[in-house]
Amino acid sequence: MITERAYAKINLSLDVTGKRPDGYHEVRMVMQTVDIYDTLTFEKAEAGITIDVGRSPLPADGDNLIYKAAKAVMDRCGLNCGVSISLDKHIPIAAGMAGGSSDAAAALRGVNRLFECGLSNDELREMGVKIGADVPYCVEGGTVLAEGIGEKLTFLSPLPEHVLAVAKPKRGVSTGNIYKSLDEIFDTVAHPDVDAMLNEFKTSKDLSFTKYLGNVLEYVTVPLCPEVDKIKKIFMGSGTGGTLMSGSGPTVFAFFEDKEKAQEAIEKVRESGLCREEELFVTTLTSPKKP
Ligand code: ATP
Repeated sequence: MITERAYAKINLSLDVTGKRPDGYHEVRMVMQTVDIYDTLTFEKAEAGITIDVGRSPLPADGDNLIYKAAKAVMDRCGLNCGVSISLDKHIPIAAGMAGGSSDAAAALRGVNRLFECGLSNDELREMGVKIGADVPYCVEGGTVLAEGIGEKLTFLSPLPEHVLAVAKPKRGVSTGNIYKSLDEIFDTVAHPDVDAMLNEFKTSKDLSFTKYLGNVLEYVTVPLCPEVDKIKKIFMGSGTGGTLMSGSGPTVFAFFEDKEKAQEAIEKVRESGLCREEELFVTTLTSPKKP
């Protein structure tokens, strides 16, 4: 039996630069792993792929991204036995934190390791992009510039373990719908300065990069989910060094000087009743170790 951690990500910057003829959006995103994770356990079985999703409301069948990822590795390596996978879910679902993509990446890594298939991370990334645009990033995680549809990765120096508060409003949003709605207002939105953030990383190790936090998808998600702005205001009133919505939302994160300040801010969000208890976190940036 082996285990893999599937870490959540936040976007420190997210820009959409255009749309490809095949309908996919071209993005430029600064992705960052945070210390919130699901745990996947893998065991060899006689036949078939079975998934125990625990207390999560996710499907346990072929619709689960874990299933798709496990099947991709087993087909590729011509394995004719089975695997039994259990999921201990903590990453909020439909939240903009790449929970499904990270589970899929962990399943690629886990099945590869369990059966000693010997696939490289490059091969896992190639297989992963067929499952979802964020899966290639999730194979290794860390601090990364993702371009193309999210699959062209430039690995950056890891950031220090800055403290942050993370809160997901009770409402969930559909990533597909958010990107579609962006098309309608695309000409009117201001774009984040991704390059300025990358330059700031080179010159400073403190939180000064937070002045370049930006996410073009806030233009779409905030009107659909006003809780995003409400939570940002609570964080701002609590002295955050910078706050932003992650991915297509509606999760909001905010940097703080230390865990005490982040905890105080989370208490205020808790009192607002906007979030479920299990979708409030005080955490840090992290860069996962390779298995
Ligand atoms: P992203 O940040 O990549 O847009 P997200 O956080 O918005 O992702 P997910 O939590 O990955 O969204 O879930 C998106 C959809 O994928 C959900 O509606 C869910 O039903 C489906 N899904 C399938 N398998 C999984 C899984 N293992 N974990 C989470 N969601 C899954």
